[in-house]
Amino acid sequence: MRPRQSRYARKQLYETRPKPKSVRRLVKFGLLIFMALLLTKLSLMHSTGHADAAIKALPLQSVCLDPGHGGNDPGAQNGNLTEASVNLAVAKKVSSALLAKGYGVYTTRTTDKTLDNANRVNFCNAKRTTILVSIHQNSYTDSGPDYSTALQYKPEDEELANTLANAAGAELALPITPPMQFEDGMLMRAKMPSIIIESLFISNDAEANAGDRVSQQAQGIVNGISTYLQAHKPAQPVKSSKS
Ligand SMILES: [Zn+2]
Repeated sequence: MRPRQSRYARKQLYETRPKPKSVRRLVKFGLLIFMALLLTKLSLMHSTGHADAAIKALPLQSVCLDPGHGGNDPGAQNGNLTEASVNLAVAKKVSSALLAKGYGVYTTRTTDKTLDNANRVNFCNAKRTTILVSIHQNSYTDSGPDYSTALQYKPEDEELANTLANAAGAELALPITPPMQFEDGMLMRAKMPSIIIESLFISNDAEANAGDRVSQQAQGIVNGISTYLQAHKPAQPVKSSKS
């Protein structure tokens, strides 16, 4: 028969062994913290990997194309030919060529609709594109003049204006007139290098009746945009040493 004393003593002994239990708890807790940290680290690495993939999948450079006029504003006209329709036809060709080259492309209008300057520039600014290229045809009161030029407003537009005017003139075999500064509501509010390209004079009768000037004009603009974007390629993102 066990004396009461010893039972008490055993209980005492048991109850006075809190150390191993707290140590076990501490180890368990430590293990949990370690696992949590490990999981966090793993998930961070995982999400970084996804972010990298997303950056690589997206086009690094993009263009906002703006076919001038449209809807109730036909722009310049020569007979049945309206500037609005030529601008749209050129923009469509430029868009598919740039997409094929891997650039991102956004277009302010893809149909014959009315847009004001604010609609156009707000759209492009919201898309945060690398550049903005507004496509127009030049015109004059008589059929005489015909040359390629561009319009720009900000100092940072200058290179884009020169590059595109030169490229359009080369493709269309037209003289090139140096780009001029133009206080245009869209150019003034654009947050990226932006220009108006005037590849040729729609008012020139020979021009209006020339063969496929739309394709040549589009090719010139594509050449100019490609040259400019190649020269302004962003540095490849540096791989983080953590991942
Ligand atoms: Zn115009």
